[in-house]
This record gives sequence, C-alpha cells and structure tokens, in this order.
Amino acid sequence: MDIRIGNGYDVHALAPGLPMWLGGVQIPSENGFVAHSDGDVAIHALCDALLGCLALGDIGHLFPDTDAKWKGVDSKLLLKEVVDLVHSKGYKISNADITIALQKPKLALHIATMRATMAPILGVTEDRVSVKATTTEHLGFVGRCEGCQVWATALIISA
Ligand code: MG
Repeated sequence: MDIRIGNGYDVHALAPGLPMWLGGVQIPSENGFVAHSDGDVAIHALCDALLGCLALGDIGHLFPDTDAKWKGVDSKLLLKEVVDLVHSKGYKISNADITIALQKPKLALHIATMRATMAPILGVTEDRVSVKATTTEHLGFVGRCEGCQVWATALIISA
C-alpha cells in the first residue's frame, strides 16, 4: 500500500457585493471573493492538497484563469475533476483537513454543510472531511477583512 500526503494553500481578496462560496456552500455575507472562478478558496486549497499528493502541479496549472472555460465556474466541478484524476492514478482519498482563516462572517453554522457537500465529491464519509475556521483576532489582511486564506491537507492511499 502506498500512502501520499499533500498540502494546499490559497488566498482570495474580499470585495463588496460578490458571492461568498466556501467549501461548496454559499455563505450569506456582504462581501465575497474576487476570482475568475466562483472564488471558493477552501476548495481551491483542497484541490492543491490533492494534486500535491501526486506531484501533479496546482489548480492554476490545471484550470488556468486565462481560459474562458473556467470563468465563474462552480469550484465543486474543479474538485470533481481533481478527484477523478486522483482515482485515475490508482489512489483513493483517505481524509482531508481544511483550516479557513476569515474575520467575518462567523462560519460555525456552515461547517457541517461544507463537510456534507464535499464528502460525496471526495468519495468519503463526512467523518473523513474536517473543516475548521478561525479569525485572526483582527490582525493582518484577514483581520482587516481584506481577504481569506485557507490551508488544506489531504491523505490518499493506493486503491
Ligand atoms: Mg483560488
């Protein structure tokens, strides 16, 4: 059995009047993410963690923002493509852990929905998808509500 681990990191800027998608879920918020896709920074970090497991590059390489095909794309579709790629290489996903740093709004009420949304795409049960959220106590660009940053870790095993 082969076990692989990967990490991913992503940042998106916040701006008023844009939708906020995180972990495949639309979060009620006066600010949303500036992006070529739907800006789901949590799914982007998770995609990069999965790609990192197999040294397959990053989502910017796979889904370039210069390609009109990905304009406004639902990031759940990007995640599905990455999961299909992992499966095609003979691996299945063991678990994933995501940490979201966002000053506001509070995400606690949405975490269960994010886990329930991403688990079937990953082909795992919800207890294998962890989502954690933190503020940065008003420090830095996250604390000033200028953006959101997300770290993700994924583990895959040969199927
Ligand atoms: Mg991104």
